Amino acid sequence: MKLDKQKLLQSIKDNANQIGRPLRLMELCGTHSQSIAQHGIKSLMPKNVKLVSGPGCPVCVTDQTDIDVMVGLALAGIPVAVYGDTMQVPGNLMSLEEAKRQGADVSIVYDITEAVAMSQEKRGLVFFGLGFETTTGMTAWAIQQGLIVYCAHKIFPPAMSALLANKKIKVGGFLNPGHVSSIIGTKVYEQFKIPQVVAGFDGEGILLAIEMLLTQILENKTIVQNAYTSLVKKDGNPKARKLISEVFEISDARWRGLGEIKKSGLKIRKKYKKQDAEFVYANLIKKIRKEIKPKLSACKCGLVLQGLIESKECPLFGKVCTLDNPQGACMVSVEGSCNVEYRYGK
Ligand code: SF4
Repeated sequence: MKLDKQKLLQSIKDNANQIGRPLRLMELCGTHSQSIAQHGIKSLMPKNVKLVSGPGCPVCVTDQTDIDVMVGLALAGIPVAVYGDTMQVPGNLMSLEEAKRQGADVSIVYDITEAVAMSQEKRGLVFFGLGFETTTGMTAWAIQQGLIVYCAHKIFPPAMSALLANKKIKVGGFLNPGHVSSIIGTKVYEQFKIPQVVAGFDGEGILLAIEMLLTQILENKTIVQNAYTSLVKKDGNPKARKLISEVFEISDARWRGLGEIKKSGLKIRKKYKKQDAEFVYANLIKKIRKEIKPKLSACKCGLVLQGLIESKECPLFGKVCTLDNPQGACMVSVEGSCNVEYRYGK
């Protein structure tokens, strides 16, 4: 069904007028941040409606210490394979790109099947598994094929709990992620008593989700609605979830900017310990972690990821920190708020 952009914008304006008070709506998906910027949607919002980004970019929320472990493995001579947008993310010591420049065997893969094929030639190769439920299923499959993985995968709903528990983060509604929801479904969000709408990725789909959120707020409702029915079902993708739970179990995890969140991560089950870098390289990883020295940085990614400041409010934005010289993960990833603001903000 073709959506009428003008009608949606008028309805958003009418609803916002009736609500009257200032409102902050948070998008929880890096692809939504990108689409909102690409379509100039922030500039179309009524004065009292502000769109802010949350921790939806998987590369951005990956903790520095996980980058440090991958860098440490690479510098110790272990071949590693990563997705390209991870290369420039700064760790406490250096990025994987710098490790490669120093001679480490770091390969970029575009698809996890390439890592599986590569591991046949490079014995002991470690793949950097990160991201939310969207990519976890593919990593689970690769582990079953024998790929060794350093697991930094995360699950999304506990991060939403953490955001809601932080009283400084005043948000009136969530634009829930599209891809993640295609796996976990919408039912899981019913635990959160806040207006929520799962949004699609084109401009009209996002406007529709904003319009639905404002209608909920106007009617004092806190329900979960789905504006992306072509892909997202209430029960998600049970087959993918079964595969994930066969290979992984829930664990605590550290998120860049949000710190440790209980039961928000995944670790590889003992049954697959021969594919778990934490087991295969246990002593080396222990040594690497012991030697990590937290680096002081003026990067404000942590605040950006919680919607507490906008990228432009970081003093480094556009001056010291640019696409060519990123100082933090939020500028490195194409889905990062700072990267998106840098490319489309003007
Ligand atoms: Fe960090 Fe750069 Fe974003 Fe500032 S602009 S928060 S330094 S990534």
